[in-house]
Amino acid sequence: MLDNLAPQAPDALLALIKLYAADDRADKIDLGVGVYRTDDGATPVFAAVKGAERKLLEVQESKSYLGPEGDLGFVHALMPYIFGADATMGGRIAGMQTPGGTGAVRLAVAVAQKAGVTRIHMGTPSWPNHAQILADIALELVPFDHALPDGTANLDALLNVIRNGQMGDAVLLHGCCHNPTGIDYTPAQWDEIAGALAASPVFPIIDVAYQGLGQGMEEDAYGTRRVLAAVPEALVAYSCDKNFGYYRDRVGALYVMMREESALPPVVSNLNALARAAWSMPPDHGGAAVRLLLEDADLTRAWEAELDTMRARMRQVRATLAAAGTAGSVDLTPLGHQNGLFAMLPVSKEQVERLQSEHAIYMAGSGRINVAGLHSGNIDRFIAALAAVTG
Ligand code: PMP
Repeated sequence: MLDNLAPQAPDALLALIKLYAADDRADKIDLGVGVYRTDDGATPVFAAVKGAERKLLEVQESKSYLGPEGDLGFVHALMPYIFGADATMGGRIAGMQTPGGTGAVRLAVAVAQKAGVTRIHMGTPSWPNHAQILADIALELVPFDHALPDGTANLDALLNVIRNGQMGDAVLLHGCCHNPTGIDYTPAQWDEIAGALAASPVFPIIDVAYQGLGQGMEEDAYGTRRVLAAVPEALVAYSCDKNFGYYRDRVGALYVMMREESALPPVVSNLNALARAAWSMPPDHGGAAVRLLLEDADLTRAWEAELDTMRARMRQVRATLAAAGTAGSVDLTPLGHQNGLFAMLPVSKEQVERLQSEHAIYMAGSGRINVAGLHSGNIDRFIAALAAVTG
């Protein structure tokens, strides 16, 4: 039977990790995989997370099953950070733990489909797994252009989708630190988006995978809060895998907001049923540790300070690139006002290959770079190599 399966293309970024590992040039640079790196190129466990994990080892008395909703203490502890002072919007928000942000996105689109959504509008380029997930559940993806050539967001394309959308349409938005472009809507643009959504049947699904990596925890929540304040119902997929550095431990949550509290239980029961059929329950460890971290004022302060350091380093790398002006034919100045781990460089596949073969610089074929792969020891060489292959 299994011989009937057609081979699938390997994930390009995971393949790049292997190629990078096999390269023995000492000055190689990895701008591929989307993880934060320190100035030394490391992706360490947050000290605050280690502290919370030590505590978890001490206090956890049982590993008995929880349920499809996971650790609700974790789910609730995150809410003020995402939704603000009135973290439940008057009891209108419920949530559940998911296996990473991927699990949350998967559950969000699956429940939207079950509720009658037939098309998902999405700005492209986007995180490639968005399209893969939609293809896997056979939900139609309708792309629109996310970015303008000057490195800012194409607001009109999104407003057009929202203003012309029908019942059964949803729009998938990145809450902050857009992957792969780094191009976020400005607060004024979010105000317009929220206003348009308020007058539209288009259902918002917001993917928040990088809160705190852009401008700050509060600043990065602006768009999500603005939209939620304007619409009767929405889904918010959340990942702790970047802002708590939990990557492989798969820590995430899905939140649903309804027009009133009494409308939540049927939705939550559907989310539970879908989760039960997909993964039964989320892995516990990371969520339990994030809960302990956020319940402890000292650990919370330590985590916030570590996140501040990460963000400041990424902003510094961006400022250095922007200050370089151009490298060959590439204008680096827009990177200075973009956010998060990623940026798209206007380079051809051939130029990406030359960066790899001639300069040991590894990046996605699309031209996406992880700016956190650059540091004081390699950034000048990167800019010079970029100039050499595009000049
Ligand atoms: N959404 C976006 C936009 C992402 O970039 C990512 C991860 N790179 C995710 C969701 C999923 O993150 P996780 O690793 O928590 O599954």
